[in-house]
Amino acid sequence: MKSPLLPLLAILSLIGLTQCHPVRVAQGPAHPQTSIQERPTNIILMIGDGMGISQITAGLYSNDNRLQLERFKHIGLHKSHAFNKLVTDSAAGATAFSCGKKTYNYAVGVDADTIPCKTIMEEAKERGLATGMVVSSTIVHATPAAFIAHNEYRKNYEAIAAEFPGSGIDFFVGGGLKFFQNRESDSRDLCAEMRSSGYVIQDHFHDNIDQIVPAPNKPFGFLTANEDPLPFERGRSYLLPATLAGIDHLQHRSEHGFFLMVEGSQIDWGGHANESAYIISEMLEFDKIIGKVLDFAENNPGTLVIVTADHETGGYSILESSSMNALQTAFTTIGHTADLIPVFAYGPGAETFQGIYENTALYDKIMNLMGWSK
Ligand code: MG
Ligand code: ZN
Repeated sequence: MKSPLLPLLAILSLIGLTQCHPVRVAQGPAHPQTSIQERPTNIILMIGDGMGISQITAGLYSNDNRLQLERFKHIGLHKSHAFNKLVTDSAAGATAFSCGKKTYNYAVGVDADTIPCKTIMEEAKERGLATGMVVSSTIVHATPAAFIAHNEYRKNYEAIAAEFPGSGIDFFVGGGLKFFQNRESDSRDLCAEMRSSGYVIQDHFHDNIDQIVPAPNKPFGFLTANEDPLPFERGRSYLLPATLAGIDHLQHRSEHGFFLMVEGSQIDWGGHANESAYIISEMLEFDKIIGKVLDFAENNPGTLVIVTADHETGGYSILESSSMNALQTAFTTIGHTADLIPVFAYGPGAETFQGIYENTALYDKIMNLMGWSK
């Protein structure tokens, strides 16, 4: 049946009125249509550990007043507090994102009653998406651990590592080889176990990641250091190439899309050390990766990119004596602070990340956008 609106639309377009609001409304209810179109295929969650507003500002004003982060148009703030403390640690902060639950500091992938909670990465895996993590700490450190493991204490690194073989993770890069083999708590060799189940595991440092990533029919792990990887300013170089290699690998591993978590882990460590130069070099490395990830998202329109932090570290501030590219800074703590934390989003559903909300709402928003029920 022909729509009775069509002759009206034809007349309106003749007199140049089709640009105006009433005609667009006449096309039908916008809401149901948008939610179908806005379902992302790929999710890239980028966490700058300890990356508060002042860390971002310091990066900006140490980089000729430019950041890749400025490309985002949809920006919000999250309330980072933990279940039992106003100031969160990275474990509770990451569990809020991964499980949508406020938990106590030191908890990874368990709720406030120490009950394991299903993580967003496990949800993704269950639904056939490829999953991956690329970090500049050990791969068992609090932030990545909260996405893959369930432990009441973040420093049970060997127990956290033991959750990798059964996780189905498709791609991971980070330090911490010593928690996978020559372990203190048992004689398991997790690298050998994963190899026997089909993984390619790289267990010593290699400069050119493109040469060691296998074809997408094999899952891949790269343990870049025995313990913590080096800071960027002291020679760590893998975070950007590993992120790009991860996107490429995951993209070809599943037709259902992928979930990738990328962490700029050491922005936090610069804050704990109260070293402004350390914060800035880690921040600018992370920002460069953000730019490359946005380039990918622009060319792959189903990709939702979310950039945020778990908390601010150092009570870092930029003093009045500063000038462009010459900052004078100060710190109020060697720990974390309770600051509100920015969230930047690009891609399908990005506008839903505007506003002020709990850190746990990141999980809720992703679950809603993907149409995944709890
Ligand atoms: Mg971290
Ligand atoms: Zn920290």
